[in-house]
Amino acid sequence: MHEQTKGIVQESLNALSHNSLFLPDLQGEAREKAFTSLGAILSTPNKIHKAFLRIPLEDGRVVRIPAFRVHHNDAFGPYKGGVRFHESVNEDEVVNLAFLMTLKNALHDVPFGGGKGGIVLNPREHSMKELNNISKKYVQYFADVIGPEKDIPAPDVGSGEREMDWMMAEYKSIKPGEPYRGSFTGKSVLNGGSLGRREATGKGVYFTFRYMLHDFVSQHKESLSTSQNPFALTALKTDRQGMRVAVQGFGNVGSVSALEAYQCPSLKNKVVAVSDRNVTLYNEEGLDIPSLVSFASLHQGDLPYTEDQLLESGVSAKILKRDELVTLDVDVLILAALEDQINKGNMEKIKASVIVEGANAPVTGEADEYLNKKGIIIIPDILANAGGVIVSYFEWLQGRETQFYSEEEVIEMLYLKMKRTLDLILPQYFSDPHPLRQNCYIHSVMKLSTVLYKQGKLY
Ligand code: GLU
Repeated sequence: MHEQTKGIVQESLNALSHNSLFLPDLQGEAREKAFTSLGAILSTPNKIHKAFLRIPLEDGRVVRIPAFRVHHNDAFGPYKGGVRFHESVNEDEVVNLAFLMTLKNALHDVPFGGGKGGIVLNPREHSMKELNNISKKYVQYFADVIGPEKDIPAPDVGSGEREMDWMMAEYKSIKPGEPYRGSFTGKSVLNGGSLGRREATGKGVYFTFRYMLHDFVSQHKESLSTSQNPFALTALKTDRQGMRVAVQGFGNVGSVSALEAYQCPSLKNKVVAVSDRNVTLYNEEGLDIPSLVSFASLHQGDLPYTEDQLLESGVSAKILKRDELVTLDVDVLILAALEDQINKGNMEKIKASVIVEGANAPVTGEADEYLNKKGIIIIPDILANAGGVIVSYFEWLQGRETQFYSEEEVIEMLYLKMKRTLDLILPQYFSDPHPLRQNCYIHSVMKLSTVLYKQGKLY
């Protein structure tokens, strides 16, 4: 598990061990023992499944591709989490991401545990036939440990509806006669997926930002203005219209968050910068996000990165280097790319006063600490990017009932669920000095340990 995660788990456990309302039945030595076993349960996954997928390539070579499925904890329900298709995937990263899923689901009361998968490959270097084969092989190797009541994979970086459709079909043929609709989520709508699932993470990211820094802050202005909490002061300053927003990453999460920010009629935000794997595009008057979305959909998801392409897209923007985005002079940074994007090397140059984690773990531990000290609000991954897994849960439910909700219903249910979590977390966050990440961890760990205790697994 990553050092940052370990550190925050430890701090959360320390905070909880001094809270007499927490696990009140346990005292003295028994309490100490319970905390030691809780630390062990959190910092180690229940099981790591590992395979080398044997894949014949179109050029005649046969390769062995490492693949993982990690089961972190299932106290709340079946393991749940995406399958990442990326060349930097490694065991430690998948374990960390599975742990974050345990906390994310606990935080939002999604009745699933935490799991994650990964395949070490660059999807852009494989043909469609090879990707189909890789997806099917993944299911063949892990078929016995996944399933609607065991472990339910979903899309993550590098995978999407297409891969989930392939995987579910393979699962169905390996396990004939068994329920299969709930074995994978994030499928295409025709194949039993949910309306609104594709946009859910990006919409949830923007909703979290808007609800927290506008709706909630406006409603609690009076109490926040007398608070000594540095984050309350930042929130009061940022509760205004016309914020300058920069979005890192233009995939499924980044492009939808950018579009939501662009379209938000009440706040008149300006999305001044977006970036992807090649480039940052900047316009201080605001970028035409719908045109960029159309351009990317015709160019394998890429933003325009040459002057000719910009001309073709019809968007007026300055072309900057990819990594320049995070240090631009903006109010809000939405990070929707990969891990460790804000780190020791660039943390001192960050000018935004709000950072929203659309990706998982995009800020390193060191940078997190540094930015918190400066009173910068970081809305953490497990709070902000849970829209995907929440709508995955709705998809799983719809698969059981074979009754489907409209897109409006799905999005309304999503926002309601996220709002409930925010209403629980925010009052405490603005009144005590812990960063928001730690507040969220404390809530999740508290729920998880209460359930573990009731299940007789904590003593
Ligand atoms: N991969 C997404 C996440 O990190 C979604 C997981 C899911 O839907 O199970 O939250």
